[in-house]
Amino acid sequence: MPIIVLVEPRKEMSTDFGAGKAVSFPKAVHAAPADSDVAGDPAELTFCGKPTAGMEPLPHMPKGPGGSWYPGGLSQYRCRDCDRALHSL
Ligand SMILES: [Zn+2]
Repeated sequence: MPIIVLVEPRKEMSTDFGAGKAVSFPKAVHAAPADSDVAGDPAELTFCGKPTAGMEPLPHMPKGPGGSWYPGGLSQYRCRDCDRALHSL
């Protein structure tokens, strides 16, 4: 199943910074299943149940089973609930 990696921006950064800046100031990195209707778009909810609206999709292509789904540099921000969900797929 294709997944999309999303950055949840810090709330205090969300109004003053443009798209893309969220990656520099992430609150958490989540993953969502790809929307089955729109290629490249995430489904409405992440694997941990948060709405994907307002999150920034990352161009990172997730690796296969056993690989990490988040960019290595953002590993400290990875959502543990999404991580657990992805490992149980
Ligand atoms: Zn999550």
